[in-house]
Amino acid sequence: MEIPVRVRFAPSPTGPLHIGGVRTALYNYLFARKYRGTMILRIEDTDRNRFVPGAEKYIIESLRWCGIQIDEGVEEGGPAGPYRQSERRDIYREHVMRLVETDWAYYAFDTPEELEDKRQEAAAAGKDIFQYGVCTRGNMCNSLTLPSEEVKRRIQSGIPFVIRFKMPENEEIRFSDIIRGEIRVLSDALDDKVLFKSDGMPTYHLANVVDDHLMHISHVIRGEEWLPSLPLHVMLYRAFGWDPPRFAHLPLLLKPTGKGKLSKRDGEKMGFPVFPLEWKGTDGSVAAGYRESGYYPGAFVNMLALLGWNPGDEKELLDMDEMVDRFSLERVGKAGARFDPEKARWFNHQYLVRKSPETLAGEFQPLLEEKGIQTDFDRLIRIVDMVKDRVDFVHELWRETWFFFLPPQEYDVKMVKKRWKAETPGILTRLGEILAKAEPFKASVLEVEVKNFLEKEHLGTGQVMNPLRLALVGTMAGPGLFDICEMLGYEEVMKRIEQACRTIST
Ligand code: GLU
Repeated sequence: MEIPVRVRFAPSPTGPLHIGGVRTALYNYLFARKYRGTMILRIEDTDRNRFVPGAEKYIIESLRWCGIQIDEGVEEGGPAGPYRQSERRDIYREHVMRLVETDWAYYAFDTPEELEDKRQEAAAAGKDIFQYGVCTRGNMCNSLTLPSEEVKRRIQSGIPFVIRFKMPENEEIRFSDIIRGEIRVLSDALDDKVLFKSDGMPTYHLANVVDDHLMHISHVIRGEEWLPSLPLHVMLYRAFGWDPPRFAHLPLLLKPTGKGKLSKRDGEKMGFPVFPLEWKGTDGSVAAGYRESGYYPGAFVNMLALLGWNPGDEKELLDMDEMVDRFSLERVGKAGARFDPEKARWFNHQYLVRKSPETLAGEFQPLLEEKGIQTDFDRLIRIVDMVKDRVDFVHELWRETWFFFLPPQEYDVKMVKKRWKAETPGILTRLGEILAKAEPFKASVLEVEVKNFLEKEHLGTGQVMNPLRLALVGTMAGPGLFDICEMLGYEEVMKRIEQACRTIST
């Protein structure tokens, strides 16, 4: 019988969730949904020094915004709870004691100063680093070297200790990763990692393995940075006598240059967010978020999913259901995935242009209201429809449409110089007389009328259209001029022509 799929996203609440973390959550979610499994959110908050208030809430809100639904977790509860590691201390204590009893772990009393001395000694002797392990544990202050009475005495009198894993000697540790294949590591290369700290908290390794087992996790899907911990985790499963889950280590997200891991600083330098939601630090700093930058969650999630996973065909625009349908860990690559901020915008653009003009107008309207602009909704729909191809975000609609709501406050100096001649006011005044007769005042009619006017007056298109655009918009930007005229209406067009003729001097 196939075991039921149970996966977990296990962030540490040490700050805002990086988009790499969101991608990990997303792949877990796609996998869970695909195999009708369970998606668990476990908060790994045992490192009290790195704990950041608000981070857990931020993580939960981010996942919700992305449409990643949690089946069991800190808010949902569930049969394998509690789902916050700080509430599971007794479980870890009990488990680490089992390892001590079976000789897979031992007490170590070395003080931070003593360990530092050892590191200095190793550095002075030209060794890479001091490794607490097979070769050195016999010379250290621990329950392997001290008489058992002394160990007992120390523990009873409250002398601080840690519990370390006793890595077996001279053993080949073999395991396989769904993405990376077979991996072999020699145990001698590994150190005796601390499993339980002097503050009574487990380390990541112990808590992570114990919880994955007790929560019946079938597949551990996580970032590549955890691959070096895997041999130890495999050994921990062996020490406990448990079957390990299957593992899949996801490739890194790389900088836009393709070199090195994508960091928060890259985002700041190049002006793109690396966090799903805006994050306000306690020091008053604000880090940009995709949500606040105007991204649609669907576009963001779609973009993120394809950073490392190749669905196998050309189709790039996928909603959550389609992604669930196609997802497979076998199609996740080993190589790092280069993050491309331009591509992120492209995705948002694609999602935006596929929305109905009604929806977009509805999204745009509150922005207009903030600016004190009231407009007829049907008119807004038509305006938005005219320019939506030119924007990536709803807030950019203002840049493309403001002149439908306000007359120009100034005229582009360069363009005035180039396009506004001494005869221009005369031409535009005569054009105004033609426009007055256009019936109805519609783009198609205006086009014919203006063409006739050009012919009759022997004028080039540029002589009329460019100054007219300057008068209406103030620059050379915007959609088709006749569409602009129609949308503004005769009265407004005339007002703007008059205003331009009054204000622009040649
Ligand atoms: N708490 C670890 C993290 O912050 C979890 C790693 C794992 O998934 O095992 O990423």
